[in-house]
Amino acid sequence: MKPRVYEQHFRQNRLPHLWCPGCGNGIVMKAIVEAIVKKNLDPDKTVIVSGIGCSSRASGYMDFDTLHTAHGRAIPFATGIKLARPELNVIVITGDGDCMAIGGNHFIHGARRNVDLTVVLFNNNIYGMTGGQASPTTPLDKKATTAPYGCVDNPFDPCNLAAAAGATYVARSTAYHVPHLINMIAGGIENKGFSLIEAIVQCPTAFGRKNKMADPAQMMMWMRDNAVMKPAFDKLADDKKVGKFPIGLLHQHQSIDYDHAYDKVIEIAGGVEK
Ligand code: SF4
Ligand code: MG
Repeated sequence: MKPRVYEQHFRQNRLPHLWCPGCGNGIVMKAIVEAIVKKNLDPDKTVIVSGIGCSSRASGYMDFDTLHTAHGRAIPFATGIKLARPELNVIVITGDGDCMAIGGNHFIHGARRNVDLTVVLFNNNIYGMTGGQASPTTPLDKKATTAPYGCVDNPFDPCNLAAAAGATYVARSTAYHVPHLINMIAGGIENKGFSLIEAIVQCPTAFGRKNKMADPAQMMMWMRDNAVMKPAFDKLADDKKVGKFPIGLLHQHQSIDYDHAYDKVIEIAGGVEK
């Protein structure tokens, strides 16, 4: 049977994947590939860069030029690739621990520089791979191995953080809303500058079990029932927003991207000697 278009972009010899049954990471990984196909990117000019964590394993299953880098460092690696080879499409795969904790500084500086990267943040609200420690997006009062009585640290909202730091495209979707998620990632690929797509994703093993949602379907129903498209969310009264979250395009503005800003510096400095 002829493979479907997106199947060509997976390394079949690496599959089946190592993720737990019911994990949402595979859904987001496939959504990225669907967005790449939708935007008709040349596979030979598309690079996937990931950090460390359950979600960052995705780069190993995808048949592009891929880099599985050090913890929290996917954005600096990706920035280097983009500056050296601006013609490449560079997509970063990262998790909430990888991107918001050890890589948090790289994230805000990538956003303020408006480096032309598409960052897909798999947010499952926990450190999954290392056994369920609280991450910077673990909601208040939710349990983790490092917060057995409930988390007392205020969580980051990655989308607000990205927009405040200077990202030019910020969107959110979930593993439940797959066609919407594909569109949000495709929009990020199209944006010339730093794009963040936060994908809310279920981790039934490390997060769900601790918080009475061990069944993956329960976690997906939670996404279905609490995600609200941004225009409708904005119209909700404040008391109706409690427990809900907006999905869709949350922020967009125009600004020069980093490699074009650097081209100007090179021009002012007299160009590059051949
Ligand atoms: Fe997925 Fe969680 Fe299992 Fe990691 S620990 S593979 S995030 S379900
Ligand atoms: Mg995580």
